[in-house]
Amino acid sequence: MTPVLAPAVSVPLLDLRKQYATIREEILRATADVYESQHFILGPRVEAFEKAVAAFVGTKHAIGMSSGTDAQLAVMMALGVGPGDDVVTSPYSFFSTAGAVARLGARPVFVDIEPETFNLDAARLEKAITPKTKLIQPVHLYGQCADMDPIREIAGRKGIPVLEDACQSLGAGYKGARAGALGESAAFSFFPSKNLGGFGDGGMVTTSDGELAAILRAMRMHGETSRYHHKFVGGNFRLDALQAAILHVKLPHLDGWARARRRNAAEIENLYLAAGGRAYEEGGLRFPREAAGREHVFNQFVVRVGKGRRDALKKYLESRQIGSAIYYPVPLHLQECFASLGGRPGDCPEAERAANETLAVPVFPELTGEQKATLASTLSEFSRQA
Ligand SMILES: *Cc1c(COP(=O)(O)O)cnc(C)c1O
Repeated sequence: MTPVLAPAVSVPLLDLRKQYATIREEILRATADVYESQHFILGPRVEAFEKAVAAFVGTKHAIGMSSGTDAQLAVMMALGVGPGDDVVTSPYSFFSTAGAVARLGARPVFVDIEPETFNLDAARLEKAITPKTKLIQPVHLYGQCADMDPIREIAGRKGIPVLEDACQSLGAGYKGARAGALGESAAFSFFPSKNLGGFGDGGMVTTSDGELAAILRAMRMHGETSRYHHKFVGGNFRLDALQAAILHVKLPHLDGWARARRRNAAEIENLYLAAGGRAYEEGGLRFPREAAGREHVFNQFVVRVGKGRRDALKKYLESRQIGSAIYYPVPLHLQECFASLGGRPGDCPEAERAANETLAVPVFPELTGEQKATLASTLSEFSRQA
């Protein structure tokens, strides 16, 4: 018989059952309420949750949507983004950042990222703007805000609105304000793996522009402005009452969960260094840094792996029952569906380098001390084999 090694402590990338266990009774009460009401589409629970999100983010309005993607789409539809328009955005993001643009017949124009934050490099933004630019859509990737001051300065001077893709960054801070209150509008996602995750899909737009908010409320109802009177062609982009009830239970916990994520990230890095973990230059790891004036909420804890060893680290972790994931292996300008846009390797070198070097490792709030120690020592062990 093959000897079986004692099972090590396994560390999943995310374990939502642990979070659920801490709020189970509250969730069951809130959902039972919805079942009793038999009111499932929009209504008072959605409105109450919208008010709570607007207050949390610091905007006048929040409009519940069926997903983060639909939130992006609805804003672009409300602004009239369409054929002949350009939307300047980041090449290093989840697909919908560019997919929503392309679905409306507009063209995504990619501006390379900063290597430190993985976010759109504001220093390269102005060159990408032309008379066709209808919208600027920076992404707050992994839980850290893009450098919004210079982005807003350029956008303001050119008279172009800014839509924040804040899908990964509810609660993230930028110079005393929060993600979602930094542009004309912002899109959030409640996909289960986001820091505020629903029990299914969900999304939200935040804005302080009352006119835009009214159009968005129509857009999510097929452009309806009064019953069966359609001023626009919209879609069915509504947030369910059931999701709103669940998310409203979770919202007061969000800042505490973000603090736990921040503590975990710092602790894992310290344990790695204490265990003799090597630097990126030696084939080890570079840990994420919080840029000046920003508060990172670590939706993902993404390290860079030196000397082309990223895929090897992923396999190494897998063999030791430690979860990890690559966000994202192919930058958007090199996606097959955008071939007609003419993107070439070398167009966005920092995004391409990040796609080859980054790996997300566990950071979720409920990680145990033993799991953090196992993760850090395994990472360090790998780095010392370089
Ligand atoms: C999750 C995500 C989206 C899309 O949100 P969905 O709710 O999955 O549609 C958009 N942009 C980014 C950066 C995301 O992480």
